Amino acid sequence: MHQRSRSPKLLGAAIAAVLGLGLGVPPAAAGAARAADADPVPGLVAGSDTAAPQLVTGLAEPAAGGTPADAARAHLAAHRDRYRVDPAQLVETGTERAADGRRTVRFAQQHGGVPVFGAAYLVHLVGEGGGQRVESVGGKYFTGLTVPTVPGVPDEVLRRLALGAIEDPTAREGATVEDHGPVVLPGGAGRLARHFTVRGTDPAVWASTAREVFVDAATGQLALTYDVRAPYRAAAAAASAAPDGRAAAATAAVEPATGTAPDALGRSVPVNVGRLPDGSYQLTDLARPAAITTYDAAGREVLDFNGGLPADARPAASAGPDFPASTGTSGATDAHLNAAAVDDFYRTRLGRAGIDGDNGPITSVVNVTSFGEPLQNAYWDGRKMIYGGGTGTYRPFSVARDVAGHEMTHGVVEHTAQLVYLGQSGALDEAVADYFGNAIEVTSRGIPMTDPRAALLGEDLCRTGTPEACAVRRLDDGRTTVADFIGAPAGVDNGGVHLNSTIFSGALWDVRRALDPLTADRLVYRALAEYLTPLDDFVDARNAVLAAGRALGLDRAQLRAVAGAFDAHGIKSGWQRRIGVDSRSLLSELSTESIAPDAAAGRWVAATAGKGGRGSLGVYAGSVAGSAEPVRLSPDDGRSHGWPATDGTSAAWAAMGQGANGQWGMEVFARPLDGGAARSVHSAANQYLGDVRISGGDVAFLANDFSTGRTWPQLSRAGAPVTAVPLPEGHAAADLTLKDGLLAWTESWQVGERTVSAPTLYSIAEGRTLAQYPVPDATRVSGTRLAGGRLLWVETPTDPTRGSSIRSGAPDGSGAADVLSGSTTAPRRITALTATDRAVTFGYAGGRVSDTMKNTDLPKLWQLPLAGGTPERVSCNRGGQYAPVADRGTRVLWLDATAGRTDLVVRERPAGTC
Ligand SMILES: [Zn+2]
Repeated sequence: MHQRSRSPKLLGAAIAAVLGLGLGVPPAAAGAARAADADPVPGLVAGSDTAAPQLVTGLAEPAAGGTPADAARAHLAAHRDRYRVDPAQLVETGTERAADGRRTVRFAQQHGGVPVFGAAYLVHLVGEGGGQRVESVGGKYFTGLTVPTVPGVPDEVLRRLALGAIEDPTAREGATVEDHGPVVLPGGAGRLARHFTVRGTDPAVWASTAREVFVDAATGQLALTYDVRAPYRAAAAAASAAPDGRAAAATAAVEPATGTAPDALGRSVPVNVGRLPDGSYQLTDLARPAAITTYDAAGREVLDFNGGLPADARPAASAGPDFPASTGTSGATDAHLNAAAVDDFYRTRLGRAGIDGDNGPITSVVNVTSFGEPLQNAYWDGRKMIYGGGTGTYRPFSVARDVAGHEMTHGVVEHTAQLVYLGQSGALDEAVADYFGNAIEVTSRGIPMTDPRAALLGEDLCRTGTPEACAVRRLDDGRTTVADFIGAPAGVDNGGVHLNSTIFSGALWDVRRALDPLTADRLVYRALAEYLTPLDDFVDARNAVLAAGRALGLDRAQLRAVAGAFDAHGIKSGWQRRIGVDSRSLLSELSTESIAPDAAAGRWVAATAGKGGRGSLGVYAGSVAGSAEPVRLSPDDGRSHGWPATDGTSAAWAAMGQGANGQWGMEVFARPLDGGAARSVHSAANQYLGDVRISGGDVAFLANDFSTGRTWPQLSRAGAPVTAVPLPEGHAAADLTLKDGLLAWTESWQVGERTVSAPTLYSIAEGRTLAQYPVPDATRVSGTRLAGGRLLWVETPTDPTRGSSIRSGAPDGSGAADVLSGSTTAPRRITALTATDRAVTFGYAGGRVSDTMKNTDLPKLWQLPLAGGTPERVSCNRGGQYAPVADRGTRVLWLDATAGRTDLVVRERPAGTC
């Protein structure tokens, strides 16, 4: 349940920005909002980026006979003018039958036989036999898809490129790649991609290297990446483990029995157990339709249990029906009872047949360790519960019923709405898990909703301190979209899945307080099981809950109370526009990969997959004054064009994909900003070309050879073929910068065990290195930039108690001095640097990703005079600020994630203090 951190390297924001979904205001929504006075449930909500409606309610149309799926398909076919859905592209993925007889048919969309990522369309039927009627229809179906479904890049190349999603080179080594096949990413014409799950094997970072990776099948570009929800170990290690099906086999010869076991506090409690043929007992509860079995890992490594149960794993055992003390101290008894409490809640209160809806076995593993230490966490691994044992600080994690309920609810989500674990849909996954986690705890333990601790999550886990201090989240924190939405990029908490969840769960918890708890639980469950679809955002989910409320028979006053709870948390259409910003937007809703902008002399260049992240990646240019529409510079040749640079007159960039020779590779282009054709500067197979720079007639870039791993600068002068800038053997270059005949980079090499780095300056005319500035030991150099006739760079001590400094030096290597001294009182790491002749702008890395992270912890930009002075905030925008580029004077452009999407924005001068 605790979130895991990753370095916020990825630029951009929510999945909505990647796919171009959900952020536009549906045309019908404004009308629907006005109509809320009359009816809190919207009758029609238009879809975003599709002609198919997001929601149609209040129908009472006779449906054809036959199976619900047949009737649903016939209804969509008979009303193609209304839904714009092609029934031939629908695959039925399941029919949910509610206790009141209502049926929900769930269709997945395909495009040319390829699944469309996250696209699900649902039809709700009431009445039986000849009286069968369609009551409502909704979900996401994308009508604009035209992308060809034949991949351009061979699968094996895509597979190799998918490994690039793991940034840590140690973790990438030995990583495994699971291939899920082709998928169409929706948005505009769509984008053909191949979906991989990449899992790293580096023990030091095991929890943060499992990623869902979508690689553009036409170009090889990483189109979409995000962390999987649960930590998984590599498939190679999992191969030795038996599949979880063994959990069912383990109970085959076991007789139901009752016994006692001590809980984690040492109290003896009655438990349902299983009696084995040899007369011994194990923690298997056979008294319910879904068998519950609890394993004691006895301190074994958690990695042994990811992907399956080890062949020699056994359920917690006892010679007689009264279980020994270790059953309590390990947390096994509490896990066993909490699994039963969760199953009871879903079964008796909501009519659900277990976690998977099909009475599949419910398995828990307690007392696991992580690299020798008790795992301080609990999670649903996709098939079973995993709990860490106790420490001096924490009780065994199975003690907390709300945590058990939260994690097992993730299992329910996987078998119902299948919410995508990124951005707002990921925050909905967390919100629903928190809601039911707490609902299960307070219901089964008889805690009233008025108890101030009812809204706390995980409050029982600490051995010392108050429950309020121990709780990881609270559903009564009162947060709203407009005031509190955290503008986290995809690399921070998967775009805020935990950080923004209480905005929505808070609204649901208010509903539970306003209605009676049983009605609220049925309402939220019905929305989850019958209305939500994988890519839904907060406003979609609001509408889903209201539609579920009408289906459940809530009266007008109750529906108003539900709508009021969402209103109170700012969950209504257009909320993003109400977040205040002090910057001017130049380009909105950029896609999230390879899009860092550049600017010079009042002109900017940036890469985006079309407006709203649609289509393949292309390079665009515009004027900072915003006097004309941005123009596309890159040819539309089926490749991804990104990584752009400009000197104010011309632009250069790199393209990735299949060249004219049919081979996958990269190519660098250059082109005047005002007219003229793009010309090829250089192309290469089996090399990664990046850090493209342009100045006057010169173009420079870094080449990285796949086979040798070497990285070196390449240079083209005045249209001439490129030449390599030679580096000493074993040296590598990064952070290339080019200006007025000078080229500079950060050069690094090994001295024994140490990596040494130094800012390096090179004269193009003289063809030689002018200077390599000495830096102190245990200091990392980054961000080399040329400005004001000097070289600037960042020095960051490896000692985390000392902050970064900004230094500059004269071209002859003399006069190196601080522009900004490293702080020892508030040490922060500078991750971005840009400069003009007048001003230096830099960005700090944000605070550590944590459960209590705020907007103030996300990266922000600061500026000071080139001659030195006191830094001022560039902008008071509250979300993450990334990839700054100085234009001229004090003017800065950057990527801003404040509103949960990525915009290219500008300010003329610093805002000062915020
Ligand atoms: Zn969770």
